[in-house]
Amino acid sequence: MSSPGKISPLFGARPDTSETISVVIPVYNEASNLPTLWARLERVLGGIERACEVVFVDDGSTDDSLRLLREFAARDKRVRVVELARNFGQHSALLAGFRNCRGDIVVTLDADLQNPPEDIPRLIEAIDEGNDVVGGWREERQDRTYRRLASRMHNRVTSAIVGVPMHDYGCMLRAYRRHIVDTVVACDEKAAFVPALANSFAKRVAEIRVGHAERTAGESKYNLFRLAHLSLNLITGFSNFPIRALSLTGIAISFLAALLAAILLGHRLLYGPQQEGALWTLFSVLFFFVGMIFLALGLIGEYVGRIYLEVRRRPTYIVRAVHGDHTTDSAFETPRR
Ligand code: UDP
Ligand code: MG
Repeated sequence: MSSPGKISPLFGARPDTSETISVVIPVYNEASNLPTLWARLERVLGGIERACEVVFVDDGSTDDSLRLLREFAARDKRVRVVELARNFGQHSALLAGFRNCRGDIVVTLDADLQNPPEDIPRLIEAIDEGNDVVGGWREERQDRTYRRLASRMHNRVTSAIVGVPMHDYGCMLRAYRRHIVDTVVACDEKAAFVPALANSFAKRVAEIRVGHAERTAGESKYNLFRLAHLSLNLITGFSNFPIRALSLTGIAISFLAALLAAILLGHRLLYGPQQEGALWTLFSVLFFFVGMIFLALGLIGEYVGRIYLEVRRRPTYIVRAVHGDHTTDSAFETPRR
């Protein structure tokens, strides 16, 4: 275990083999995949020259998953199983895993064998190079076309919102340094999207190409509705943009209404009163007030958004270490002559 203020090795430095590795895997009804997953994972862990642990989080599975996981734990003391009381969703399961793992480096992956466990050593290598977060990039994604399109859009939006561009925010084959995991856990968010949250706290982020296999057993737990839900959570969780857009629309509508009024006035001065003039004037007044209502809603939204930011309690900054002499508070002493 590293001490709290430990700084990651610099680029190209020798890896610190005293650091420990945790592999965190959320599991929801994956009984058909678990035996193969564990067999492959065991082989991979055998090749890593560091102490490892595997934390399986059973996310309320209704099939044989939990029994299988407990069997792994009984056979191998590197395995821990966190059993959730019911199905809470992949990201909540990940958070539960984060809270219950101890490694200096934490690797996450899916249980359905779409993420090859054999890529784990490369993720760890990239962390050794001094990155806080390493994301997997499934360049050749083996999913349905609609999933690939949805995910491309999702990655664009997430990159813009988080401010850290990445090709693949949806890939769960990722690695994190301990301080990032601790911060994500400390946020204790109800609708967290772990990769985005982690990136927003990282100084150095890298992406490496990883393999992706088709799902051969079990079925995907995500449909379009659940994906849309995830995206909405993400957008509202990271920005007040939708509220801002409302205010801006309001201002634009009012502005157009004022323009219309000016045109009507000009028209009347030039050509004298017209028959439909009153109707148009009414329109412009109406639009003006519709715009104002939008603006008012947006302003109320701003305040609600601020309250939201406050109650969310995400840290505004994170101190990793304090360097220099702090045995005395000399900075506050008046120099004696
Ligand atoms: N998962 C979970 N809880 C859920 C849904 C999924 O723990 O409510 C796990 C699932 O067992 C798998 C991973 O999250 O290990 C990814 O799920 P899935 O393969 O269904 O997602 P997809 O690959 O289709 O995005
Ligand atoms: Mg999958």
